[in-house]
Amino acid sequence: MTRIVVQIVFLALITGSCSISTLQKDLEERRILEQFRLIEILLPLPPDSIIARYNQYDSTSFYREHFTSLQFAGQLIDSLNAGFPDSLQIDTVAIEHSVERFGEAGRQRKILLLSSAYFTVYDDITILRSVIYHEFGHLAYDTLSTERRREFDSLWVEAGRQALYYLFHDAEYSGNTRFGGHPEDSPAEIFASAFNLLRNQPEEFRSRLLYVDERNRSTVRALASFVLPAPLP
Ligand SMILES: [Zn+2]
Repeated sequence: MTRIVVQIVFLALITGSCSISTLQKDLEERRILEQFRLIEILLPLPPDSIIARYNQYDSTSFYREHFTSLQFAGQLIDSLNAGFPDSLQIDTVAIEHSVERFGEAGRQRKILLLSSAYFTVYDDITILRSVIYHEFGHLAYDTLSTERRREFDSLWVEAGRQALYYLFHDAEYSGNTRFGGHPEDSPAEIFASAFNLLRNQPEEFRSRLLYVDERNRSTVRALASFVLPAPLP
């Protein structure tokens, strides 16, 4: 039984907030459309149709249409919470319905923020699952002791030196091509991606590992030991 509270935060400039003028709204909509056109090839839907989806939703229809996915997210968060002390567990999911935050996810204390795009645009449970696992990976990284973090951080440097970051792009395992992992950015990012991939899609990860040079596999195994209870075979 899920205990997670779901909130929908409507911050969208283009969903018709009465505090901004129609002109501002049109300009903002055009600016965002331009941005989407630049990355069109990476999006699952044409830019116009994404904007239209943002415009047509209100919280009632959002809950109604995405009830199953929201329920799935709540249950997954409940089960992942079990691995963390009460003080760190996520108790609220805030769905942010603003195109400016398209495809973003993050955590603020006990609140998990998810862009509504993970429901309306990327209507795919495997992507939602991957994003939630990734955010719990960040939570797990934050719980490392200073010494363990130092150890992990040097593995991140080593993984870069051995050109192994490509193995940790969450997107390539879930079809979330634009917004899926950036392990090259920081140790926290590779940790979150490793947490997601090794726990959520262990078979796919292991099959890719077969193609990694034997000399570099020990770095991957060492990284994996931080997010898995048992060593990688
Ligand atoms: Zn991340």
